[in-house]
Amino acid sequence: MIIVMHPGASKKQLKEVIDRIEELGYTPHVIHGETRNVIGAIGDERGKARLQYLEALPGVERVVPILRPYKLASIEVKDERAGERSIIHVAEGVDVGGPRITVIAGPCSVESRESLLHIAAEVRDAGALMLRGGAYKPRTSPYAFQGLEAEGLRYLAEAREQTGLPVVTEVVNPEDVDLVYEFVDVLQVGARNVQNFALLKRLGSLDKPILLKRGMMTTIDEFLMSAEYILSAGNDRVILCERGIRTFETATRNTLDISAVPVLKERTHLPFIVDPSHASGHWQYVHPLSLAAVAAGADGIMVEVHPEPEIAMCDGPQSLKPGKFRELMQALEKIADAVGRKI
Ligand code: PEP
Ligand code: MN
Repeated sequence: MIIVMHPGASKKQLKEVIDRIEELGYTPHVIHGETRNVIGAIGDERGKARLQYLEALPGVERVVPILRPYKLASIEVKDERAGERSIIHVAEGVDVGGPRITVIAGPCSVESRESLLHIAAEVRDAGALMLRGGAYKPRTSPYAFQGLEAEGLRYLAEAREQTGLPVVTEVVNPEDVDLVYEFVDVLQVGARNVQNFALLKRLGSLDKPILLKRGMMTTIDEFLMSAEYILSAGNDRVILCERGIRTFETATRNTLDISAVPVLKERTHLPFIVDPSHASGHWQYVHPLSLAAVAAGADGIMVEVHPEPEIAMCDGPQSLKPGKFRELMQALEKIADAVGRKI
């Protein structure tokens, strides 16, 4: 259920409603909107009729059920008519979900200090807003490069110092969360971990944004339920990422579900980006798919960039060389302009 407060409701009235929700055995989540506040009352669905009576409290405009299985992630908790959507603040000048398209770029994995610093400067100069790089790599083969781990985190922090770009990296294991938290601005959940509920709950206790990737075999609603795990554990800064799903098609590594873009826009207030690198698996498709993503309404893209893809330790075939990345940024500017956004 969500309890929609009147635009002019006082803090005291809000507090009273929160207290009553707790008395009824539900957990209140206050969502501060531009025009008014709403409170999500989360708990056992069976007793929800009792919440209906909160409509009689001063300051309450209405009490409405959330029909979707995810609650806090649902568009229904925001004032859709006012076009309210979440904007996730990452760092000074970097917000995901606002008018500006967020371009995240960098190598698949952090390979060495020198190469990371080099790529970071390249992508920053080309206009990327955030640097990506995996320190913990969830590889299909146990014999493949697994990442530099803590050493990689230190290089990411150094790259941030040098370039000013906030950094995002994947955390695979709940035990590593504290360490990763110390070094990066955004913690990423990879496709293979989208339903690792222990990890999601742990990330829900943090005060840093989470980049949640869709699994290769999760439906959009399952994906949003995973987001709900993080939100319901207390962290409301979730950025979603469509990265391709598994289909019968083998010409590309995965199939970019471009339909997910308008569907997500309709179902959730959370911002979302598209990762055309993992979706396609081939660098030559990354450019057109990136344009398609922004044209369809994505809030950003995440792209792998490597100066020497032939010798990259991971995902070379889908990595853009810096020159191609610059070309992409120029083309994106025109698409962003056409859909009323900017780069
Ligand atoms: C990544 O972004 O580095 C990655 C491993 O992607 P995914 O989890 O989408 O496969
Ligand atoms: Mn990769």
